[in-house]
Amino acid sequence: MIKIKSPEEIEIMKVAGKIVGDTHKYLIPYIKPGITTIELDTLAHDYIISCGATPSFKNYNGFPGSICTSINNVVVHGIPGTKKLKEGDIISVDIGACYKGYHGDSAWTYPVGKIDENKKYLMEHTEKALFEGLSVIKEGIHIGDIGNAIENYAEKHRLGVVKELVGHGVGKKLHEMPDVPNYGKKGSGPILKSGMVIAVEPMLNLGTANVYLLDDNWTIITGDNKPSAHFEHTILVTKDGYKILTKR
Ligand code: MG
Ligand code: MG
Repeated sequence: MIKIKSPEEIEIMKVAGKIVGDTHKYLIPYIKPGITTIELDTLAHDYIISCGATPSFKNYNGFPGSICTSINNVVVHGIPGTKKLKEGDIISVDIGACYKGYHGDSAWTYPVGKIDENKKYLMEHTEKALFEGLSVIKEGIHIGDIGNAIENYAEKHRLGVVKELVGHGVGKKLHEMPDVPNYGKKGSGPILKSGMVIAVEPMLNLGTANVYLLDDNWTIITGDNKPSAHFEHTILVTKDGYKILTKR
């Protein structure tokens, strides 16, 4: 069942989403060559706590970090550690915060110093693919309409659409119904209603769409080791559109 949030729940989720957006904003100046991903994790953890929230990912199914830090060929779920960022990397930072029992969830890919044209292209068009997906959202559309818009855009730009991981409903749980795939047919899947909250999150690869899970059982990498980007917003469905809850 897809939950429709009450006005009171929506007010709390707006705060949870704002904390996620603000945490991104807070981290941006630190994303530079030389910083380790565990340092970014600590900064994000402490910032989220200072906002009166808790990091949604910490201990989620045993995940060791407070955020996910996925560098270059890592698609998602990179575990923060002692690896240092270096000039020319791209890093996807996925942040979740739980405020008064409700979650917000947003990922964004950032450049580390100067990056090459291929990575710029990948980042630019993955971000645009997110907004292509969002642009069709309003009460009455089908979930498949979102994935269709994202997939069409990605194919037009010759980027690989990761299919093993999908967006999702957000609420009291970080991952609720429905699944929100980044591919699909128009008119397929559940119908959206005003008051639903979902995370839309295209993960696009510069090369093959194939991905692999590493032995740590978290880190997902591209099949050809080419870079991957990830852009995600948690949004509220409204009568004639949507409202981004995780804006920064
Ligand atoms: Mg998500
Ligand atoms: Mg996320």
